[in-house]
Amino acid sequence: MPNRRRVVEVLTQDAVGAQQWNGARGECVTMPTDAYYAVQDAMTAVLERVARAVDWPRLLTEAASRHLVVHPDLEPDDRHWNPAAGAVCGECLCEALLADDRGAPNWRDHPVSPREQPHTDWPRVVADNLHHRAASHYHPYRDAPRTT
Ligand SMILES: [Zn+2]
Repeated sequence: MPNRRRVVEVLTQDAVGAQQWNGARGECVTMPTDAYYAVQDAMTAVLERVARAVDWPRLLTEAASRHLVVHPDLEPDDRHWNPAAGAVCGECLCEALLADDRGAPNWRDHPVSPREQPHTDWPRVVADNLHHRAASHYHPYRDAPRTT
């Protein structure tokens, strides 16, 4: 399954939970189908924003750095090694993505990046705080100064 689809499915399930579907009719029976797809579209928007926000050259540099320290002897037949990825593996990419911003990671002393929010019900937290959004949220189409 493509990563895009995997991420969107995980985030959608976080937001609305497991839903029941009528496979024959292609409809969600436990919430409006259009609402389910709207949440999926929103989670796709989150993924696309994350993809734009990641500093990919930094990620690759940090992942390659970790790989040299933690996996210097990884062999091509190891399931975590992918020749197409060059001098990194999936584990190192993950740890580099989750590295905090306290300077260059010291992979030798701290090979695992922090997981500080593994059980946070993030959709609930977002929903509880959306009422604060209007005060400071800038919408480029609604709020841009008129030129005509
Ligand atoms: Zn590695």
